[in-house]
Amino acid sequence: MNFNGIAFDTYFKNYPDESGFFGKYGGVYVPDELKKAMEEITDAYFTICKSSKFIAELRKIRREFQGRPTPISYLERLSNSLGNVQLYVKREDLNHTGAHKLNHCMGEGLLAKYMGKKKIIAETGAGQHGVALATAAAYFGLECDIYMGAVDIKKQAPNVARMKILGANVVEVTHGLATLKEAVDAAFEAYGREYKDAIYCIGSVLGPHPFPMMVRDFQSVVGIEARAQFLEMTGELPDAVVACVGGGSNAMGIFSGFLNDPVDIYGIEPLGRGEKLGDHAASLKYGEEGIMHGFNSLMLKDENGEPAPVYSVASGLDYPSSGPEHAFLHDLGRVKYDVINDEETIDAFFTLSRMEGIIPAIESAHAVAYGIKLAKQMKKGSVLINLSGRGDKDMDYVIEKYGIR
Ligand SMILES: *Cc1c(COP(=O)(O)O)cnc(C)c1O
Repeated sequence: MNFNGIAFDTYFKNYPDESGFFGKYGGVYVPDELKKAMEEITDAYFTICKSSKFIAELRKIRREFQGRPTPISYLERLSNSLGNVQLYVKREDLNHTGAHKLNHCMGEGLLAKYMGKKKIIAETGAGQHGVALATAAAYFGLECDIYMGAVDIKKQAPNVARMKILGANVVEVTHGLATLKEAVDAAFEAYGREYKDAIYCIGSVLGPHPFPMMVRDFQSVVGIEARAQFLEMTGELPDAVVACVGGGSNAMGIFSGFLNDPVDIYGIEPLGRGEKLGDHAASLKYGEEGIMHGFNSLMLKDENGEPAPVYSVASGLDYPSSGPEHAFLHDLGRVKYDVINDEETIDAFFTLSRMEGIIPAIESAHAVAYGIKLAKQMKKGSVLINLSGRGDKDMDYVIEKYGIR
């Protein structure tokens, strides 16, 4: 399929280019010593991860440890309540550890093992990436240092406990606001010191090349499975595919299966409390071009051009930028990016729980809310929603803040 001059049948061979760019977005904006480390990972990725031995081992892990393939579920009661449109969800909530993040963490962990690294280093905000990575580290017998802001450590006690039980070393970061941004800075610094023995594992399709490409490719299993499963279930492709976008890894995972198809694709960002800067984290909709954490993308900026403070009810979505490939697909128009606010999200959280017996992660509930909106607008057809994770981690917070609806 051709779209605005881009041939999508050869898209994955051409994007990113050799320097790690998706059009003008992406790249490697890091100090020189880390550039070498990025080249080492890029070389290892193309030689190791593309070998049949690696692929076979990763497939076995996906099947026997992660619980893949995850199913697609038809949402019968919800669809019937809305009219003539059929809603489906891809069940990434049924992955071991409860979300799609393990898809790339197991890939990155296996790469670390093949490269002979002893340690994996990462940052975490809410702790979801830290838990998935600590799981991978335990599985592969690697040391694991997770950098986490002091503020987040206090807020996310259950995830901190999980990481520690899994054997990870949680490193407290106390400078600045002591949240995610400072944790990323500290993790990068540590990696600069330790890159001979360690590998950095980023939590989404973010950071310098090759991470946006590598994480997308590890997540593409979601889209490959979903396309085949949907065809088998219904005999056709969905009319629309929807996913939430924080950094954008679960979205790139499912989108990659449908970019070359006549399917409408929607990436949903958090509108939080509203359109004012500081009240949302919709970087693709409201951001401008900017560089942070080693890559060029669309970014929410404050008056000094620095990354702006952001907010969302979903801690997995509150990042002031998004993966460079999303910025590219946004400008190209191949993917439509839209927003859902906190209220709509909480409604969808309860609706899916009550009508289908599935409690979604608040992140994923953004995509569910948008799927419901689409179903009301469309006269007929089908919508496939990526249910990126389960809501166990969010239940206490939702009850405390919003009560039972
Ligand atoms: C972390 C997380 C997200 C956001 O990350 P992406 O890279 O945008 O996918 C979404 N859903 C869940 C359940 C998460 O844990």
